[in-house]
Amino acid sequence: MNIWAVGRNYANHAKELGNDIPKTPLIFLKAGSTLSTSQKILLPSWSKDVHHEIELILQIGANSKITQVGLALDLTERAAQAEAKKMGLPWTMAKSFKNSTPISAMVDFESNETNLNTLQNLELKLWVNDQLRQSGHTSQMIFKIPELIQYVQNIFPVEAGDLLLTGTPEGVGPLQHGDHVRAEIRGLSSGVISMDWDVEKT
Ligand code: MG
Repeated sequence: MNIWAVGRNYANHAKELGNDIPKTPLIFLKAGSTLSTSQKILLPSWSKDVHHEIELILQIGANSKITQVGLALDLTERAAQAEAKKMGLPWTMAKSFKNSTPISAMVDFESNETNLNTLQNLELKLWVNDQLRQSGHTSQMIFKIPELIQYVQNIFPVEAGDLLLTGTPEGVGPLQHGDHVRAEIRGLSSGVISMDWDVEKT
């Protein structure tokens, strides 16, 4: 299974990292084997600065239909990413290290017009040790979900069952051993999706 991810899809997040607003979707890959359903966030031993990025994650089925939705953390080793950006090199080490995509349970999604509109009207929130760090809304996406899916499918070999990470709002920041992370997505007709994690350095 592939994980297609979009970067800089929320203007205020692009700005907080000093990036320009993209004119076309910025797509990168995370290995399917980075997924973790564990309630532990495992920071790699070599890592210096792993950031949380709360994101809405979608599973894409046959005919480009969204079949499931969930909450994910697109964990990012910001020091490795900054170095790669500076050198003009790929982001793989920063984005696709072991356990770098913790996810909640996925919820079944019926892909009709009402539900698709709802996806663009969700609240994303993430707390670290009970302090609110990220608070955003999927209405703030620069590239909306139908456009993202179409773009990714036009260019890449998307397979049924692949996942799409839709970008993070502002407020990303570092995680430390011993932190407790809580994240929520509100607004789905099926109810609130939430997940709690304890952070451990390996
Ligand atoms: Mg991200």
